[in-house]
Amino acid sequence: MTRAAIYLDHNASAPLRSEARSALLAALELTGNPSSIHAHGRALRNLVESARGQVAKLAGAEPKQVVFTGSATEAITQAVVGGAKVFSADAVAPSTGEHAALLKAVEATGLPVWTIPLDAAGNIDLDQLAALLRRADDEGVTLLVAVHWVNNETGVVQPIERINAMVGPTRHALFVDAVQAFGKLALDFAASAPDMMAVSGHKIGAPTGIGGLLVKSHADTVRLIPGGGQEQGRRGGTEAAALIAAFGAAAEACTYDRQAMAALTEYVEAGLYRLAPDVTIFGQTATRVGNVTNFAVPGLNNATAMMALDLMGLSVSSGSACSSGKVGASHVLAAMGVSKDLANCALRISFGWNSTMADADAFLVGFETLLSRQKRGGKAA
Ligand code: PLP
Repeated sequence: MTRAAIYLDHNASAPLRSEARSALLAALELTGNPSSIHAHGRALRNLVESARGQVAKLAGAEPKQVVFTGSATEAITQAVVGGAKVFSADAVAPSTGEHAALLKAVEATGLPVWTIPLDAAGNIDLDQLAALLRRADDEGVTLLVAVHWVNNETGVVQPIERINAMVGPTRHALFVDAVQAFGKLALDFAASAPDMMAVSGHKIGAPTGIGGLLVKSHADTVRLIPGGGQEQGRRGGTEAAALIAAFGAAAEACTYDRQAMAALTEYVEAGLYRLAPDVTIFGQTATRVGNVTNFAVPGLNNATAMMALDLMGLSVSSGSACSSGKVGASHVLAAMGVSKDLANCALRISFGWNSTMADADAFLVGFETLLSRQKRGGKAA
């Protein structure tokens, strides 16, 4: 690789923001434990509490509702496994489009799973949710409804306001995985229905290793790691002050220009239609968050295409990479009724805070090369 690769995978992890780097490095210079009452400890406590305020602001939450965790996966697990206990849930109701972090947490509860399907556009099916809530009431079952706000693979924005209105006034509990919505949509945790919500630092330009659980006071006993009583007893372990400070700085710096993101995405999608008229763009008829396009050209296998694009210096994703780095079949696309053959051709491009039109152009140039190689040689690389 002769030049820096172009990064088109913000939904996997956003590049570190300079504000977060500065806050991280400054905090690493400090010594001590935020729980100590001496001057060293107090300096770190100030950093942690000011970051709590910054993260809370971006989530529309009160600072005391923010619990810092090691990742969104940890926050999700605490909300679902801990929340199922707090709310005495008899069953958990995720949608079929959830991230593995949530699906595995649901599995870990050991409770029956009442699944809410997605429709073909990628939206959570609200009629089915209504039917599940009716059934739960008929059977005297308490549900923990656990759904995502924005889909990480397709960028589809779920109708959380309507889900709030359906679940909020009931005795059932609601958890929202807001990882891909945080910093992209106006969130109002304090005033809206979710009992708990999860966010992640590295999706908004903080380093990895820091996430947040937002929790209302009635769900306050959600605690998996009691430890030394940190985070008001809700997550033990000495606070990672430097990561927390970086998370706060990233949240403070976070501005999301949905129009600019959508302009990049629309430009790429128009280019895709020009280059490959048989392309399918997933979730295109739904409301999308703007920074992501997930598409497939029949016959162009995604694993092969990703490798070829990587060699051209273009970092893209299939949207469904598992932890081993292999490309797995997407359960989200399967839930939308996409055939396995087409799902195996799905590629995801996601833009973010430092993306430019030149990145979008470079992708289209690379993709055109890929398609012409495929036409000539019958294979992508
Ligand atoms: N939920 C969604 C929708 C995600 O996109 C991700 C990360 O890809 C996670 C949860 C997990 O976040 P973290 O990497 O902070 O554990």
